[in-house]
Amino acid sequence: MSSYSQVAVAEWLRRVFTPAELANVPERALRAVEEVIELAQACGVDRQAIYRLVDYVYERPVGQPGPEIAGSFVTLYAVAEALRLHADREFEQELERINQPEVITRVRRRQAEKREVTARPVQVRLGCSDVCGFALLVDRASVDITTTGSTNRRCDRCGAIMLVWGDG
Ligand SMILES: [Zn+2]
Repeated sequence: MSSYSQVAVAEWLRRVFTPAELANVPERALRAVEEVIELAQACGVDRQAIYRLVDYVYERPVGQPGPEIAGSFVTLYAVAEALRLHADREFEQELERINQPEVITRVRRRQAEKREVTARPVQVRLGCSDVCGFALLVDRASVDITTTGSTNRRCDRCGAIMLVWGDG
């Protein structure tokens, strides 16, 4: 990967993301993981193998971003080699595709929608399952909610399990 590649990607990023989004390292890293998982899926890697690998990696010492980026490139080129694909050519084609005006517009719109969703306070209305009448509004992120709508929160009045009564 030449430094031209990084400059070209940085230019594209600046066209679609805000500076804060660009600087969000965990978010950028997660998007990289998503792409590599898609690559693994396309190569026939079993889902369970990925789960096991996540546990294995997280139980080992944490590395440094620089060498890990280098390792990512080496392994990506190795996959391309095994597939007999020309990685740099694939990159050039993708860069051309994402720089098309309609793609830029679509990505920008999706980012704007994402920003709107994250800006909205997400709250849920909880009610006491023992119908003592107690109800309250809480941040959705602050409670564990099961698929049946019960929560890990207990009623402040009677101590019974709280149920989700609706959206805030
Ligand atoms: Zn209650």
